[in-house]
Amino acid sequence: MSESGQRAVPYYCPFCADEDLVPAGEKHGEWECRSCARVFALRFVGLKGVPS
Ligand SMILES: [Zn+2]
Repeated sequence: MSESGQRAVPYYCPFCADEDLVPAGEKHGEWECRSCARVFALRFVGLKGVPS
């Protein structure tokens, strides 16, 4: 695992579980599901057990 946590790519739509996701809008971390047309955003919150 060499992920920095800055780049999170969803593999499945959290609403309909389809895999047809494309980046949405200008902001990083926003994705559009082309199957159900929902747009959602991912946010990195932190690491478990690591106080921020
Ligand atoms: Zn969907």
